[in-house]
Amino acid sequence: SEALTVEELYYNYPDGTAALRGLSFKLMPGESVALAGPNGSGKSTLLLHLNGLLRPSRGRIAVGGKPLDAAHQAFARRYVGLVFQNPEDQLFMPTVGEDVAFGPQNLGLAGEKLRERVRSVLDQVGLEPARFLERQSFNLSIGEKKRVALAGVLAMEPEVLVLDEPSAGLDPRSRRRLIRLLKDLPQTQLVATHDLDLALEICSRTLIVEQGRLVAEGPSEQILSDR
Ligand code: ADP
Ligand code: ADP
Repeated sequence: SEALTVEELYYNYPDGTAALRGLSFKLMPGESVALAGPNGSGKSTLLLHLNGLLRPSRGRIAVGGKPLDAAHQAFARRYVGLVFQNPEDQLFMPTVGEDVAFGPQNLGLAGEKLRERVRSVLDQVGLEPARFLERQSFNLSIGEKKRVALAGVLAMEPEVLVLDEPSAGLDPRSRRRLIRLLKDLPQTQLVATHDLDLALEICSRTLIVEQGRLVAEGPSEQILSDR
């Protein structure tokens, strides 16, 4: 079945702003899909719904074939890993090691298994554990913070990875490495991005959102060549 299903999703902020206005799409397991569209079109609002941080005003979301309702909230948090655009929104422990350990610890991992998981995801994002485990997160560069945030999400071993502007603010070399890393990940991915080259390189399909609705969808080369 689908990794993620969004059907006729509507969301109004408390001040009345209609941010999502009947959005529908599906992700098949293993697919990488880009989410593009102008600022204010509803991309971040959509992403916040995908692991239950926002509740739809109307419509339906299913993750891994289960409806994203109160009964499946904990399942959704584990199944869908959300990497925020600003890493400072998700790094809150004093050291890198503690930050990356926080999620898997909550899932019940402890001892050597936990330490091994933390080391392995730090390696995966190119942060040498011996050098970074004890570093204070707030002292890192923006690129390093983004990698720690990604490592913390990978440490939960989610089936679906949702990334908000992962390449924003990275220097060209870090951006290349990020693209290489994302390309190699086995997860189903939904990537909100203004970086069309990144979308072309890692996403077989692109969704275009405008004013809270899907206005185009198809193979990335086809959809992005007219933009
Ligand atoms: P994008 O991520 O595509 O830039 P957003 O999801 O951030 O778009 O925003 C969609 C719409 O919702 C915009 O009109 C934006 O101004 C509005 N919006 C975003 N956050 C809030 C909020 N907390 N309260 C009210 N309106 C908001
Ligand atoms: P290399 O020396 O091959 O350029 P590094 O040793 O710096 O690579 O990094 C090893 C791996 O870490 C990369 O292949 C990539 O998977 C990951 N990586 C490095 N930098 C980043 C980054 N900014 N964002 C995400 N992953 C990164």
